[in-house]
Amino acid sequence: MRDWSINTKKFSGENGVVKKIHMVRVQWEGGQNGTPPKMVEVPGSEFELKADLVLLALGFLGPETSTMLKDFGVTLTPRTNVQVDKDYMTNVPGIFSCGDMRRGQSLVVWAIWEGRECARCVDLNLMGATALQSSPFHS
Ligand SMILES: Cc1cc2nc3c(=O)[nH]c(=O)nc-3n(C[C@H](O)[C@H](O)[C@H](O)COP(=O)(O)OP(=O)(O)OC[C@H]3O[C@@H](n4cnc5c(N)ncnc54)[C@H](O)[C@@H]3O)c2cc1C
Repeated sequence: MRDWSINTKKFSGENGVVKKIHMVRVQWEGGQNGTPPKMVEVPGSEFELKADLVLLALGFLGPETSTMLKDFGVTLTPRTNVQVDKDYMTNVPGIFSCGDMRRGQSLVVWAIWEGRECARCVDLNLMGATALQSSPFHS
């Protein structure tokens, strides 16, 4: 069985062994004008499932904004990802960002591609020239 739009509230069990998952249904609200949608619990939709084993596969909701990014004063996009210019540099000179932190949750292939592009831009910034190849997709 597969089910979606559910928030797990807690696990319960006996002698350190999980027996039940306690959940509630959720719906997404907002998300217009470039702002992230908000997950809202559906009142009265709490339910339980029996469980023998729980595997966690959690999605990415965005970079932590209350620590390093805040300390450096890095500008974020309206979707709370890191804002960069075409050379992957943030508003703070010498600080670069790529991958999920820059584009939001995505794919490994994009992370690899952006990582290589970003490395090339860092090299260029530090050395004034680079021998690293640019991808044909770089704009
Ligand atoms: C559950 C799940 C399933 C997925 N399945 C797939 C899939 O099947 N196929 C696919 O293509 N993609 C999948 N993805 C997406 C893919 O994993 C990401 O797009 C990719 O890993 C992003 O790479 P990244 O290097 O940008 O970030 P990450 O892989 O998140 O790497 C960031 C690294 O930075 C480290 N870090 C964070 N803060 C700090 C700090 N302050 N100091 C030092 N280090 C720090 C973290 O520990 C982490 O190692 C999945 C993602 C999730 C969450």
